Amino acid sequence: MTTVGILGGGQLARMLSLSGAPLGLRFLTMDTVADACAGQFAPLLVGDYRDEAALADFAGRVDVATFDFENVPAESAEWLAARVPVFPNPRALAIAQDRLAEKTLFRELGIPVPAFAALSSREELDAALQEVGIPAILKTRRLGYDGKGQFRIKSAADVDAAWQALGPQAQTVGLILEAFVPFERELSVVAIRARDGEFRTWPLTENWHVDGVLSASLAPATASPAVEQAAIEYARLLAEKTGYVGVFALELFCRDGELLANEMAPRVHNSGHWTIEGAETSQFENHLRAVLGLPLGDTGMIGHACMLNWIGHMPEATAVLGQPGGHWHDYGKQGREGRKVGHATLRADAPATLAEGLRKVGAQLDRQAQVAPVIARLGG
Ligand code: ATP
Ligand code: MG
Ligand code: MG
Repeated sequence: MTTVGILGGGQLARMLSLSGAPLGLRFLTMDTVADACAGQFAPLLVGDYRDEAALADFAGRVDVATFDFENVPAESAEWLAARVPVFPNPRALAIAQDRLAEKTLFRELGIPVPAFAALSSREELDAALQEVGIPAILKTRRLGYDGKGQFRIKSAADVDAAWQALGPQAQTVGLILEAFVPFERELSVVAIRARDGEFRTWPLTENWHVDGVLSASLAPATASPAVEQAAIEYARLLAEKTGYVGVFALELFCRDGELLANEMAPRVHNSGHWTIEGAETSQFENHLRAVLGLPLGDTGMIGHACMLNWIGHMPEATAVLGQPGGHWHDYGKQGREGRKVGHATLRADAPATLAEGLRKVGAQLDRQAQVAPVIARLGG
């Protein structure tokens, strides 16, 4: 019996555990809080990621370790990697944890990125603004997620407020200024690399964010073959350069048919949740296959899929469950403003059918604004 250890016990660990059950796998999750939602399905070890005794307990009980939480301290990941196989490797994790290291690597690999500059003081912010221009986004280098730790500088009048909001973190997590990209669409490529180097991607996904949080994903994205090829090539370069094993997502902005890389997520990704029902093999199952050295599953998709995130609280399930191809995922989390508590996936064989399903769900749940951009993209 193989036990997979997962650092972080949120919905990603929960969905990994659920997808690993048919493979006969056992799981042990570790989180800093006792009510982490993966704990409803897999034993949960509560402890601090920096606590050696807790890590040693974890290491002693698992055959291989992976992550649900990308901000596990890199030193803890390394400490663990000296004792059990850890995938992705701690170096890849460390790069993805730091927006500066990540963007520097993108640039090194010839992956286009928005203009950026690291900074640690108010004077350096002024210099960075000269270099990057306005509009721009000031971001923390580390620990940001769901658009947290970001301040949009739309005009010179916003600079003081931006520094007031994020300046205190300049010495702790570091800051980076990025040019604001007036993108036409956001895309992500969810990719996987096996222990033996085999590399695959799921079809490109288009994503819509609201206030920095993912709201909807559509697959396959309607991108030109050139854009799709470039996205896949960028993901492959990254995976090979970092010796990556497992699933990761590369988030991209698309403007005038050109791609700019935003960030890399070193784990299964929200924009890949549609793969549970919409692909031959889900990102969760394939991640497990990769970290265990098993053959990778087919990443081909089945028709068209749209994922809708539920933020703050769960809506009524019946509107989605009543749709053909409607699937429901309740993470079993306490509702809280801004928190991802679940998602739904609608799958259909044709774009028009998917648009019709989305229209019905949007109307029944009073979520017209959430489904509207997806329906428009589907030509509905
Ligand atoms: P995630 O939850 O994806 O990890 P995050 O907190 O790491 O989010 P980003 O992905 O950097 O943050 O930003 C969140 C969203 O904000 C992006 O998906 C995009 O919609 C918008 N955004 C971020 N950076 C830029 C930019 N330079 N130009 C335009 N929009 C941006
Ligand atoms: Mg991120
Ligand atoms: Mg992001």
